Amino acid sequence: MKQPKVAVIGSGFGGLALAIRLQAAGYETTIFEKRDQPGGRAYVFRDNGFTFDAGPTVITAPHCLEELFQVANRSMNNYVKLVPVSPFYRLYWEDGFKFDYSNDNAELKRQILAKSPHDWDGYLKFMAYTKEVFREGYIKLAHVPFSNLWSMVKVAPQLAQLSAFRPVYTMVSKFIQDEQLRQAFSFHSLLVGGNPFSSSSIYTLIHYLERSWGVSFPQGGTGALVNGLVKLFEDIGGKVYLNSEVDSILTKNKKVMGLNLKSGSTLPFDVVVSNADVGHTYKTLLRSEKTLAATRKRVLSQRFSMSLFLIYFGTNKKYSHLKHHNVIFGARYKELLADIFSRGVLADDFSLYLHAPCRTDNSLAPEGCDTFYVLSPVPHLGHDAIDWQSTAPIYADKILNYLESRYMPDLRKHIVTKRYFTPLNFRDDLNSHLGSAFSLEPILTQSAYFRTQNRDKKIQGLYFVGAGTHPGAGVPGVINSAKATSSMILNDYSGPTVPAGHFPEWESLA
Ligand SMILES: Cc1cc2nc3c(=O)[nH]c(=O)nc-3n(C[C@H](O)[C@H](O)[C@H](O)COP(=O)(O)OP(=O)(O)OC[C@H]3O[C@@H](n4cnc5c(N)ncnc54)[C@H](O)[C@@H]3O)c2cc1C
Repeated sequence: MKQPKVAVIGSGFGGLALAIRLQAAGYETTIFEKRDQPGGRAYVFRDNGFTFDAGPTVITAPHCLEELFQVANRSMNNYVKLVPVSPFYRLYWEDGFKFDYSNDNAELKRQILAKSPHDWDGYLKFMAYTKEVFREGYIKLAHVPFSNLWSMVKVAPQLAQLSAFRPVYTMVSKFIQDEQLRQAFSFHSLLVGGNPFSSSSIYTLIHYLERSWGVSFPQGGTGALVNGLVKLFEDIGGKVYLNSEVDSILTKNKKVMGLNLKSGSTLPFDVVVSNADVGHTYKTLLRSEKTLAATRKRVLSQRFSMSLFLIYFGTNKKYSHLKHHNVIFGARYKELLADIFSRGVLADDFSLYLHAPCRTDNSLAPEGCDTFYVLSPVPHLGHDAIDWQSTAPIYADKILNYLESRYMPDLRKHIVTKRYFTPLNFRDDLNSHLGSAFSLEPILTQSAYFRTQNRDKKIQGLYFVGAGTHPGAGVPGVINSAKATSSMILNDYSGPTVPAGHFPEWESLA
């Protein structure tokens, strides 16, 4: 069979990973990106000498990344360097309790025993549980496409055995009694857009993944990792067009024919893979395709994850007491999450993630200065309307005052640059349905077979990659989704003999 010409819409980590795999397999692959830089959520803002990674900062599962260089016969070391971060996170509570989560077992034991002596045993049991979840949920299933109901039925017994139908917090509470430690070991699902009180306990695998492979940060910031992947793709012959928003996907007789760009060009392609938001793809890019009416309705009626409010700010002094990754819990946990996910109201209180990348890499700020972003989870735009134009500065003030009063003395006086990113930016800059930061919410009924299929069932040549597809959001998630989607495309167009990137040494790490 003639090799297909492939277009990828969007240059997020999922789009880049998929494009690299297909180009490495010999398929002529072109990426069309709406924005002026690649990376999607991993965009980079540069203000007055400060470098702000806009999105992902906790880089885990480095093997996913190394595989991309291996399939292209290149070495990752020649493109980007990953630096270990320790502790993984410092967690803070309003009563002054702090917890450093790291790979140092002795240090973890010391902290857990000091806080809640009987919870050390529970923690060990929790880790044993997450190891099982990791083996079943990540190693065996994360990169495998679920293209029919049977593929889901086949894994149902394993999922049931692991209590995947139970929420993260419930499973953590089975092992750990102390409320703050329960929060410390359940907040991880928020990193992929999941409420710990409703996301499947499959997401506890993130613990084991972090403990196995650590947390790292690319030298030069996450943007350097994006640039490394773009360079790899271009080195093997791929093309990336920036400022090239796709207006629609062309179809005829239930078959993909190509793309229309907003600029007016029409380009023929045999295969189109959308890395753009799944809601945007079905609602806008495929608006004229009548065959997809039911799929469109189903996707748009699913539960989308929360949005985020972010402030990127630079200071003219260093706050060296902060760690690289800081998670700041507010007074409420379950109720605050209910405000964000279910009630859809902007609460007066918040829980925050504070990124201080200069702890690992001083090159991201001018000398003597410090670079930060602070992130607050907020409802997506499908709930009661919040007027973000007028709310943003007020909400930002509240967050900065809070940081100043508890964690960053004299902060306001030392801020020399600042910008916001609101749910409106997720909607308008990234074309995210309802301004969701993580696409479809990771609940069991929207996972695996029930998530957007990696290959559309009705339109030949139409595929998906990224946070809205299996296995879901997060950098390892979308890179695994690229493995799943590329294996389907290679299988569909070249037959089962073409290797889709299978590395036994990676799997033996579990
Ligand atoms: C603030 C924040 C912090 C995060 N932190 C972490 C973290 O620390 N660790 C982690 O693992 N994950 C993290 N995540 C999640 C992770 O960043 C995402 O799940 C992942 O990067 C999404 O990748 P993606 O492949 O789905 O594509 P996206 O990043 O969503 O990119 C999609 C691309 O498609 C483009 N596009 C959309 N419509 C069109 C169109 N019509 N034409 C052309 N292009 C189009 C967009 O411009 C965008 O560039 C974070 C997310 C956010 C928002």
